[in-house]
Amino acid sequence: MGARRAPLLIFGAVFTAAFVLAALGYLSLRRWEAAAELQLHGQARDTAAMAAEKVEMAVVRAEQDAIAALQTAALAPDFGAAAVETWKARQPLFDAVFVLDRQGRVLYPVGWTRDEAELITALRGEISQGFWDRGGRRHVEAGGHVILAAVIPGSARGPLLVGLRRDDEALHRDILRQTLDGTEGKAALAVLDRAGRPIFSARPLDRAEPVLTVPIGEALPAWRVALYQPAGLSPRDMVRRQAMIFMAALALLLVVIAGGLVATYRLVRRESEIARLKSDFVANVSHDLKTPLALIRMFAETLEMDRLPDERRRREYYRVLTRESERLSRLIENVLDFSRIESGRQRYDIAAGVVEPIVHEVIESFRHPLDQQGFTVDVAIAPDLPDVPLDGDAVKQALANLVDNAMKYSGDRRHLRVAARRDGDGVAVEVADQGIGIPVSERERIFEKFYRIGQSETQGRRGSGVGLALVKHIVEAHGGRVTVDGRPGEGSRFTLHLPGVS
Ligand code: ADP
Repeated sequence: MGARRAPLLIFGAVFTAAFVLAALGYLSLRRWEAAAELQLHGQARDTAAMAAEKVEMAVVRAEQDAIAALQTAALAPDFGAAAVETWKARQPLFDAVFVLDRQGRVLYPVGWTRDEAELITALRGEISQGFWDRGGRRHVEAGGHVILAAVIPGSARGPLLVGLRRDDEALHRDILRQTLDGTEGKAALAVLDRAGRPIFSARPLDRAEPVLTVPIGEALPAWRVALYQPAGLSPRDMVRRQAMIFMAALALLLVVIAGGLVATYRLVRRESEIARLKSDFVANVSHDLKTPLALIRMFAETLEMDRLPDERRRREYYRVLTRESERLSRLIENVLDFSRIESGRQRYDIAAGVVEPIVHEVIESFRHPLDQQGFTVDVAIAPDLPDVPLDGDAVKQALANLVDNAMKYSGDRRHLRVAARRDGDGVAVEVADQGIGIPVSERERIFEKFYRIGQSETQGRRGSGVGLALVKHIVEAHGGRVTVDGRPGEGSRFTLHLPGVS
């Protein structure tokens, strides 16, 4: 239970750590967003205020220059409508000019439209007596326009009142564009009119979002400079993007960690399984060796005491001694070969040879136990077997292991069939039994070292789990392979495929 809980605990710890990391990351991103927003606002306010100031200064300077020029013209003795006309031609910023004298008479223009008449009335109404006396200039709102009103000293007629109406086109062209074009950075500046509509922008505003606005000042009352941030560039968008990258990286990290943990867990499990199999192996081998040794000892002692009634019985005892010592050597041979294979020292002596005598020899060596345990054996050797390259002792050992298994894993139906047939230009040797059979799912694994099929079936049958691993190694050293088929409960059939000379 403890071993099973450990990986769960590790997974839990890793995921908790990842969760805490994600939460901390998210919080710091939020904090960063707030700081970035604050900083951006401050910068935006500075930029917009500077732009507003520049615009106002440019407007005021243009107006001052225009009025100064008109003042110079008004001082001339022949000042009249023609002089104003000449002046106006040089001032593209204004589309309407009104010049009135102190009595309210309109000196310019000579004739006027209804709109202009309204403006003149408004101008007259706005100008107080004090303004005439003090002089100076102010902006007057009339008929939806901002009119610059100024009192200038006239020559013969006394002071004159001048009203100048700005031309929006010229304002765009000569003032806004020149002052606002070429602003640096990604933000865009725009000028909003009194209705809040952007009437000029240094850059297309498409999907940009307004960040803030600042008033321009008295020269353009109720107009504002606005700063726009292009879509996707606001601190919130940037933080969102960063958060997504952060989350993706974290997810990737988690996947890698989870993969690593799973791989480590599997490795550790496999290692501990091998360790368990190894200790089983030692116990199984010792147990395997004990049985023939006990028999040898018992029969040898009986012979030594010379208590046997006749010669026939004595010969039988000798046969048992030979058979058990053969079994003992086979077991020891298996273990030694296995250890040689494991350390890479196993060599095979392969030369062209015949399979038939090998098959007979193996059956013969099992003759006694086969008879004693009531096995019937069918041997079928095809007459046309070709010579194949082989190491006689090794193939004998492989076959002996197969026959030994066939006997061990047979139930009540004790029948074996050993056959050798042609297989392409090679030979196939089969050992089939009618025993407990092998589930399909186990057919790969039984060839692994130390592997024995699940407790229930194999329990009670001696064995160390290295026999089939040896068989596999031997045939593969011959360039061949070993296959297994049959049905669980009905028996198994192992086939050694030994290729011919290629
Ligand atoms: P063992 O010493 O356990 O026999 P092997 O490597 O020879 O080891 O065989 C591995 C496992 O394959 C056996 O434990 C057994 O479960 C299964 N096995 C081998 N041969 C047969 C067979 N003829 N019939 C059924 N099961 C078999």
